[in-house]
Amino acid sequence: MDDETTPSRRAALEAQRVHLREEIVAQGADPDSDEVTFVDDRGFADRSHSTEERSRLISVSRALRSNLRDVERALAKMDAGTYGRCERCGGPVGEERLDALPWAMLCIDCKNEGVDA
Ligand SMILES: [Zn+2]
Repeated sequence: MDDETTPSRRAALEAQRVHLREEIVAQGADPDSDEVTFVDDRGFADRSHSTEERSRLISVSRALRSNLRDVERALAKMDAGTYGRCERCGGPVGEERLDALPWAMLCIDCKNEGVDA
């Protein structure tokens, strides 16, 4: 990991974190909770949302939050000095992969083995 790449990756991760939090709030969910419940059920109280719409919002929120957790974990790894290392095999995640996916936790080989991370 060279010293010039890390600050730009950190900036990308921090921008993504802000973006995801805004998206989660826009869905009416709480970015700081792992519960897939809605802050105050606003938008649902008037019954304008169908059951399908509600379950769609829940799955969108869940995906956004899962991404947010990865981003936060990547930032924590930067602080710990372990950023860019595969969580499974300990090898490098790879610069190209991190360019495309700065919050990637696994190298492409481990990812292809179907580990859900
Ligand atoms: Zn690996």
